[in-house]
Amino acid sequence: MQFRDLKKQYQVLKEEMDKAILDVVASSAYVMGPKVKEMEDAFAEYVGVKHCIACNSGTDALLLALKAWAVKPGDAVFVPSFTFFASAEVIAMQGATPVFVDVDPETFNMDDEDLQRKIKQVIWDGKLTPRAVVVVDLFGLPANFEAILATAERFRLYVLEDAAQGFGGRIGGQKACTFGHIATTSFFPAKPVGCYGDGGAVFTDNDEWAALIDSYHIHGKGSDRYDNVRIGMNSRLDSLQAAILLVKLKAFKDHELVDVNRVAARYTELLKGVVKTPVVPEGYYSSWAQYTIQVKNKEVRAELQAALKAKDIPTAIYYPIPMHRQTAFKYLDLERNLCPVADRLADTVVSLPIHPYLSQEDQDLICNTIKSFFIK
Ligand SMILES: *Cc1c(COP(=O)(O)O)cnc(C)c1O
Repeated sequence: MQFRDLKKQYQVLKEEMDKAILDVVASSAYVMGPKVKEMEDAFAEYVGVKHCIACNSGTDALLLALKAWAVKPGDAVFVPSFTFFASAEVIAMQGATPVFVDVDPETFNMDDEDLQRKIKQVIWDGKLTPRAVVVVDLFGLPANFEAILATAERFRLYVLEDAAQGFGGRIGGQKACTFGHIATTSFFPAKPVGCYGDGGAVFTDNDEWAALIDSYHIHGKGSDRYDNVRIGMNSRLDSLQAAILLVKLKAFKDHELVDVNRVAARYTELLKGVVKTPVVPEGYYSSWAQYTIQVKNKEVRAELQAALKAKDIPTAIYYPIPMHRQTAFKYLDLERNLCPVADRLADTVVSLPIHPYLSQEDQDLICNTIKSFFIK
């Protein structure tokens, strides 16, 4: 069994996909070219923002956003401790200081009360200037933007929505990638919409920031590509990946997002009362980058994973080490129990196979194996 069955997806999309790929190969427009513009327009339209700038990865997308805001040494940027490393890494890459915020035990997303606490602490300490908050839509579920945007406004912080896992999620009728002042996503193959390599995108309604990001992602280009007006990066999306993403977005809109939600709902139904299943607040819609359950402790989790593995069922732990305990951030000399919820989740979460093509038979096997493990 596959954790995320990209092979199956390719088989379903094969005819259309092969044609899209070969068309780009035949066109010889491999870098930039019309496919990239077409892809940017399609993704901007889908989420409902003015600008989409495609780039080389979700990590670069985050970095480009921080560059547009000129985030620099001496700035404090708030970020959840329970996330993928890149969300925090980019803050340090800009020379700013990441300040780790605890998460909500139900949604795993940034806890607004702890955010307020951490902002006040930074102000009280008086060493750093609060500048921005990176808000992650973890596992596909949008964060509590109503509360976080209000807090950000109160303290005059920019909000960067890291929707690397959140693409396709929404709150009411508003889609992920539109909640932050700038939002980013990743097209890494295993994300809700993935390409066949690395890729990412930045979304914003702000013309000035969009122009800056467009410049930064191609060597700080000015009026043309040999007129360089700032120090930038080489972070373009390949035309091949853009063509692949157009096919993927169509399948995502047509049926994949609905299918993966059906799979998630079935998990929750079958696992009710057996393990702690994911919580989707009223009015929220997830794109299910992960389906993550919680068990009692690390030991039970290891045994459960072994029982599933014995049946050829893959599982994964997202994430075993919170940001405030990462070796790379030792230089920050942080307090050990900075984010107790993130610490507890790191020991108790386990993610199950999920994707739009997961069969009912496979899902029954997974759920029955979990049930017989707990109900002995
Ligand atoms: C995957 C991911 C990223 C980075 O995306 P890449 O395309 O792999 O660089 C950033 N943030 C989160 C939350 C992610 O899951």
